[in-house]
Amino acid sequence: MTDYLLRGGRVVDPAGGQDRRADVLVSGGVVTAVGERLGGSGATVLDCTGAVVAPGLVDLHAHLREPGREDEETIATGSAAAAAGGYTALCAMPNTDPVADNAAVVEKVWALGAQVGLVDVVPAGALTRGRRGEEMADLGEMARCAAGVRLFTDDGAALSDSLLARRVMEYLVAFDAIYAEHCEDEALVAGGHMHEGERSVALGLAGRPSEAEFLIAARDIALARLTRCRLHLLHVSAAETVELVRRAKAEGLRVTAEATPHHLALTDAALASYDTNAKVNPPLRTERDRAALVAGVADGTIDAIATDHAPHALQEKESEFTLAPAGIVGLETALSLTLTTLVAPGLLTLRDALERLSTAPARILGLEGHGGPIEPGRPANLTVFDPAATWVVEPQRLHSRSVNTPFAGWELSGVVRHTLLRGRPTVRDGELVTEVMV
Ligand SMILES: [Zn+2]
Ligand SMILES: [Zn+2]
Repeated sequence: MTDYLLRGGRVVDPAGGQDRRADVLVSGGVVTAVGERLGGSGATVLDCTGAVVAPGLVDLHAHLREPGREDEETIATGSAAAAAGGYTALCAMPNTDPVADNAAVVEKVWALGAQVGLVDVVPAGALTRGRRGEEMADLGEMARCAAGVRLFTDDGAALSDSLLARRVMEYLVAFDAIYAEHCEDEALVAGGHMHEGERSVALGLAGRPSEAEFLIAARDIALARLTRCRLHLLHVSAAETVELVRRAKAEGLRVTAEATPHHLALTDAALASYDTNAKVNPPLRTERDRAALVAGVADGTIDAIATDHAPHALQEKESEFTLAPAGIVGLETALSLTLTTLVAPGLLTLRDALERLSTAPARILGLEGHGGPIEPGRPANLTVFDPAATWVVEPQRLHSRSVNTPFAGWELSGVVRHTLLRGRPTVRDGELVTEVMV
């Protein structure tokens, strides 16, 4: 196995408390030295001049669409998009076809991810059979199988039945697994296509009110208090939900939350031209909500920035607004959007951005080898990016099989130069290393 010397970068490592100019020597898949002017004779040099060397990013929330919708994304193309975006691990959502509600499906997703070898694919399992919200899925079997599922969710919809939600939490607490919720009350959002407010009235579109989110979040926090189960709130979008999470944490409940780059960057103003690429569930909300999310990410109320990478077929996104599916591809823009919309204007420090994009999600998922620290003996899961370099988002040039992004044409700061998974480059000098794919 080739040794690599990452030369001349700025090591920003939230877990290890480091922010310094240093070389990083990687040998046998692990970091063997961090320091100034390392020798590393025989090692291949990766130029990191002007770049940040950080722990590889970890996404808590990605839809890879395989099995079932390989026309939209596959585990291979989604893994390529992730590596290109600086990720070394991601949690694959279970709303596939068939649904990942049993050991056979999660093991298949896990094995395919390992076979592709560009990123650690960590499958999530469904809470209920077929995500139908009627009976508990084979939770224990999924937790015990080779994939070792830690996070369970019926993402795409909330679990409506409060008694079943309680029973699932009582079951999950026994093995310290995570109940993760897509917080939208099904009845309150039925027929809605965007945030309910002045803009939905102006556009003549039925809305999805903030109440749909924070009522489910409040219910789940109450059930987490009752059961002592770990609760994770997916893609928080409303100001009121941020406040609920803040209070739950102050109370000492085991509640974590994520926000997406698109909810942090955009408001419902993005829908003014009926752009189906800005249609997403939960919907983009108001400037007040966006500001509350940014404040929540900055003060740690929102633990993680997660993509909710949701590829959709072009012909479906090009249909009429009310018929188009909701979702945005996000793996290749998350880091740059965070740097451009939060770090550059001084709303979030670079250290905290990397904590939210890597260290915190790795900790939530219990991924020992990810999220840093960047220290001798640790697996070399690293990303190197040039924070000052800019690029323009051209959807057709993304590695994802789908192109549904509202950020087409945006100039963003932050270009990934190298990504290393256990010491092996998956991206080198800005190019995906395709030889590692089988
Ligand atoms: Zn969702
Ligand atoms: Zn999702």
